[in-house]
Amino acid sequence: MPPPMHSLNPNDPATREALQARLRFYRDLGLGDFYRRDVVLSDYVQPEVLPGAQLEAQPQVAPISAQIAPEPSLALLPTDQETEIAPRKPFPAPPPQAPSVPPEQHFAALKLIRDEIGDCTRCALAAGRNKLVFGDGDPNARLMFVGEGPGADEDASGLPFVGRGGQLLNNMIQAMGLQRERVYIANVVKCRPPQNRTPEPDEAHTCSPFLFRQIDVVRPQVIVALGQTAVTYLTGEKRPLSAWRGTVHPLRGTKLIVTYHPAYLLRDPNQKKHAWADLQIAMRELGLTPPARK
Ligand code: URA
Repeated sequence: MPPPMHSLNPNDPATREALQARLRFYRDLGLGDFYRRDVVLSDYVQPEVLPGAQLEAQPQVAPISAQIAPEPSLALLPTDQETEIAPRKPFPAPPPQAPSVPPEQHFAALKLIRDEIGDCTRCALAAGRNKLVFGDGDPNARLMFVGEGPGADEDASGLPFVGRGGQLLNNMIQAMGLQRERVYIANVVKCRPPQNRTPEPDEAHTCSPFLFRQIDVVRPQVIVALGQTAVTYLTGEKRPLSAWRGTVHPLRGTKLIVTYHPAYLLRDPNQKKHAWADLQIAMRELGLTPPARK
């Protein structure tokens, strides 16, 4: 059992890490709507259970129970705060679809995009980056995977999905009867967010036009979005993962299929069977049959 949230010390780096991991878990699960406003603990917790002034002094890290927004206990929510929640900024429109490039020029067209990105400092993620992770794979791939952003291994190598999650993704690709070199893999953001946190909207919006241009060059038949961040910024719509999974969505002339992020599957292997069901939708769209089991 996790400790009760009111007993956690948000100043402790390990606690912060654990909270962030928990938030990532909820997000991968499709529970993405967390309030980011400061939470006054005394609005939620009886004064006698507050562990002292320390928590009062650091209200930015709210107990997760207070951050999960979908169904707050209305009895506990101070009604006069409702109007203080800033309305969500509308997503900027994605760039219009670029004209198609002949297949033999896909490699060069991707290189042009990479060159244009250059030694990017367009957003704050540049400051903590080791290597920019542009994307990898077959410029003429029929299948493209889109993840969230580089982690530590990717930041060190400059290649997407090379850590533990990448190994699982490789297994998923093999189970589809494909080789990793035959698919294309990219992320919403090309630089590692600190502590692997979720990219901020301004970071994702700054970087995603390059992803859209990669998509327009590769023109895969099918895109598989890995997790909540990928589908949110590909579509510009924030819905729970469960609302996306199980059906095919049109996207920039391709078919978008949504499944769980490999990192989430590593944390909850019971979901692998559901991810496999999603990948089978992708295979159906690509006319693939799974290889016979040995
Ligand atoms: N997670 C992602 O979303 N992308 C990567 O490249 C690696 C881990």
